[in-house]
Amino acid sequence: MALMFTRLSTRHRLWINGRPLANQAMDDAFGNPGFPRPALLELSPALLQAGHNTVVIEVVHAQRAGLSSVDVGPMVTLRARYLRHLLVSVELPQALNMACGGLALLLVLIWRRRPSEVALGSFGVIALVGSVRNYSYFLDTSVTGTALWADWFFFAINVWIVALFGVFAQAFAGQRWPRYRRWLLGLAIVVPALGLVATGLDRLQELRGYAYPVLIGTCLPGLWLCLAGARAKRPWGAVGPALGMGAMVGAGVHDYMFQTAYWLPMTETFWMPYVMPVTLGIISLALVRRMVHALSEVEALNTELEARVAARTRELELANAAKTRFLASASHDLRQPLVTIGLLVGLAKDRSDSPQTRQLMNRVDEAVGSMEGLLTGLLDLSRLEAGAVKPDPGPVRLAAVFDAIDAHEHAAASLKGLRLRFRATDAVVWSDAVMLERILRNLVANAVRYTERGGVLVAARRRGGRVVIEVRDSGIGIAPEHQQAIFQEFVQVDNPARDGTKGMGLGLAIVQRSAAMLGHRIGLESALGRGSRFWVELPPAEAPQAVFSDAAAVDTPGEPVPLQGRRVLLMEDDASVRAAMIERLQAWGAQVVAAHVDVPSLEAWLADPQQSAPDLMVSDYRLPHGDGLQAIAAARRRFGALPALLVTGDIAPHDLARLHDAGLRVLHKPFRPEALRDALLEALLAVEDAAETIAPPC
Ligand code: ADP
Repeated sequence: MALMFTRLSTRHRLWINGRPLANQAMDDAFGNPGFPRPALLELSPALLQAGHNTVVIEVVHAQRAGLSSVDVGPMVTLRARYLRHLLVSVELPQALNMACGGLALLLVLIWRRRPSEVALGSFGVIALVGSVRNYSYFLDTSVTGTALWADWFFFAINVWIVALFGVFAQAFAGQRWPRYRRWLLGLAIVVPALGLVATGLDRLQELRGYAYPVLIGTCLPGLWLCLAGARAKRPWGAVGPALGMGAMVGAGVHDYMFQTAYWLPMTETFWMPYVMPVTLGIISLALVRRMVHALSEVEALNTELEARVAARTRELELANAAKTRFLASASHDLRQPLVTIGLLVGLAKDRSDSPQTRQLMNRVDEAVGSMEGLLTGLLDLSRLEAGAVKPDPGPVRLAAVFDAIDAHEHAAASLKGLRLRFRATDAVVWSDAVMLERILRNLVANAVRYTERGGVLVAARRRGGRVVIEVRDSGIGIAPEHQQAIFQEFVQVDNPARDGTKGMGLGLAIVQRSAAMLGHRIGLESALGRGSRFWVELPPAEAPQAVFSDAAAVDTPGEPVPLQGRRVLLMEDDASVRAAMIERLQAWGAQVVAAHVDVPSLEAWLADPQQSAPDLMVSDYRLPHGDGLQAIAAARRRFGALPALLVTGDIAPHDLARLHDAGLRVLHKPFRPEALRDALLEALLAVEDAAETIAPPC
């Protein structure tokens, strides 16, 4: 036999027929103020008597614990009913709240990662606090130890849940109501504080009577916001959450009537522990679904973006290849007439006695010079792009580089009345001498070009184990918004008319690519109207064994040209360039022994045993039925180590790479007459030096 209660305080004492049956927490109240629970007590037959039996029950309980009627019957029957009760009134709400707590924790964790998701976060906190509160309703011991403080704790949690609900509602509807916010904050601080005082005075229940209607009233604007937000967003998707919130407010009103106002029978149960987890679960799922939806959208967008980037990259690669092809062919075609003009203008200047004609020729020369500058810049860039320039790093003595640049740029600076100074240095850096000189020369030329007053200073400093070369000027400066763009091709800050005498906008692009190839960092600081400071950072080098500066080789002051009487073999298919070359070479005292237009005619000439060896061969690269490399090879097969110079207007990466690999002396079109003269001299001297070195001493 057994006794069953649907509600019995967790603090109770029972006697049957005057003999004790149970004594539960009666003597130790700590943490157990007495909660109503279903109970099943076994009655041993020895305790029962025939006829009337008397059961005496003593309970101590917290508010509204209540005591149900007692059922007496066989254990088997009562156990099934007891378990059903236990499931519905304790285990089910516990399980619901535990699941809701887990989901809420997930929302809070997501919020930590994405603080902008205030709706998600505030809702997660409500759900977490609420489910902990509800779960603890069904524990047999109070978390706070005493009934008094447990009461305050639940009271405060209810206040905070309402305040958080207000925050959530605003975030959910995407609205900010500052006054409502301030009200919520005040509520969250003041009411629990009042609760503390009331608990101290043992008047919390009285305070509840006033505070809970205020809390319910506070929820109403939030509820309105939720409904408005739901209607504005996705009417059907958001109806569930909004209804859920409404149900929670309804449950709050019910529980208020039950617990605080005593308007409902004592055997009622709280609704909140059932309504809250169900509602919170629905809303959590809706929020999670919204997030998953957003994530899927982001993923789809990413995929689309990747596809677009790939397509754009392909287009860019094609455009870049087209640009390189265009540049290669356009610049080849432009170079030919330019070489002719350059050579002829030089001759015309030499031969003209009239000052007016000389002046005119000087102006033509200037125009040719600026066009040459553009083509040379393009050539340099395309050589860098083609990988035809291979850095050859080694120790470079900066003083030698500075001297070479000084020799080049000094005249231009003096002409403008500027002071160009190079601070003496003994620094040695690890770099490619030719490329480094080109970088610095570009920077110094720019500094001189864009400075009207004051001067330009080039100095090297050691900084943190590196060497920093800086080129400072007191010129016009560069506005911050242009400081990055000027390193791009053809970008000039103040030359909308694209006046060629003001540069072509290629210098810094070449500087940047060369520096990147060498692994040198470059930088710029500048203030508009106050000047600029470009810097290059390089690694220092230890022992400067073979110090080399290209400038020394290229810029040896022009000696009287020893072409007098030299026999030159010429290969050039372009009639005008050929004629201008012949005339130029003759003006330098050379004798052009033959001028061929293609490889077969050269081979026919070489086959003639009457022909004696020339002193020098000059060949264009692009020829009909062959190329300059084949022509030079054919001549060398016949005459041995013949000094040779290859002249080319090609900038196609493939051709450039071929010339680079051939190891021949190459002069790029267009060129100034002086450059042709110097290159011829170098070709002659190189072979003569080599002959001297290997000749046995006599
Ligand atoms: P450009 O041949 O026009 O000088 P660059 O690529 O060398 O081409 O320079 C690009 C632009 O950067 C120039 O047109 C000029 O406006 C600006 N610039 C370069 N160096 C300086 C400097 N030292 N002072 C002021 N502006 C400069």
